[in-house]
Amino acid sequence: MSGRTAEPPALTVLSLGAGVQSTTLALLAAEGTLPKPDAAIFADTGWEPARVYRHLDRLEGELTGAGIPLYRVSNGNLREHTLTSPSGRIRLPVFTATAAGGGAPAVRECTREHKIRPITRKVRELIGYPGRARVPGDVWVEQWIGFSTDEIQRVSGKSDAPYITSRYPLLDLDMSRRDCVRWLTARGWADTPKSACIGCPFHGNRAWREMRDQHPDEFADAVEVDRAMRARTVRVGLRGEPYLHRSLLPLDQAPIDHVTRTEWRDRQGDLLDELAEDGDPDGCSPYGCRSGQAA
Ligand code: SF4
Repeated sequence: MSGRTAEPPALTVLSLGAGVQSTTLALLAAEGTLPKPDAAIFADTGWEPARVYRHLDRLEGELTGAGIPLYRVSNGNLREHTLTSPSGRIRLPVFTATAAGGGAPAVRECTREHKIRPITRKVRELIGYPGRARVPGDVWVEQWIGFSTDEIQRVSGKSDAPYITSRYPLLDLDMSRRDCVRWLTARGWADTPKSACIGCPFHGNRAWREMRDQHPDEFADAVEVDRAMRARTVRVGLRGEPYLHRSLLPLDQAPIDHVTRTEWRDRQGDLLDELAEDGDPDGCSPYGCRSGQAA
């Protein structure tokens, strides 16, 4: 943790991505192992799988019972924006062809626009300085982020606003992601899903395969968006065709049955890693989008 210690924070808030680590943090607070934050905030891109919303509903029950309000905030529906933004601009980190012939992800704007921005807006509202109101220098917010010991490299110490100081309670508790999975499993939360948009271009082959085989309606949705994005790009006259899969092939033709080296390696690991380092990125977190590590 960095930042002020002289005055108590005006607000302590849990940034809830609703994946394994932040769910662990939420439940640790709800059961009293950690002090209770004043609020938890979930930024909804509107394009999460149904099981993430079901998980969130269940978690909300626990949090509310413990006196921790959960706020769901949004900056619009990311799927809808992808297909209807007037400029044709795509916030998803889609792959486009490079001069060298390979696929490179475009700039990712979705995390900032659909996660960080609505969370910061809500934080300002909760501390009484909405919009662009100046936040006095002695007013600060402690924001909990669910980084575990295995992702310490994601801790930048930076925050999105000068009045926000980040804290990483899982690091203080020396908990790895595997520890979190064990902890959740022991408490009946083994089915905590990965939280990431259905059409996130950072899905690895394994995630796409699982979606195709276990959630065909979601896969069909991603295939449709993938196709519609390209049709639209041509219409609005942008250069570089966007693809959700790094092969630069339409998603329903992409080689998602190819097992990547990372996946092979991780298949030989502990079964507890099934939810974790399975050759696929581990969901999207507002402050360290785990989806940024494509397998
Ligand atoms: S899951 Fe992927 S598409 Fe969704 S906000 Fe995170 S990086 Fe963007």
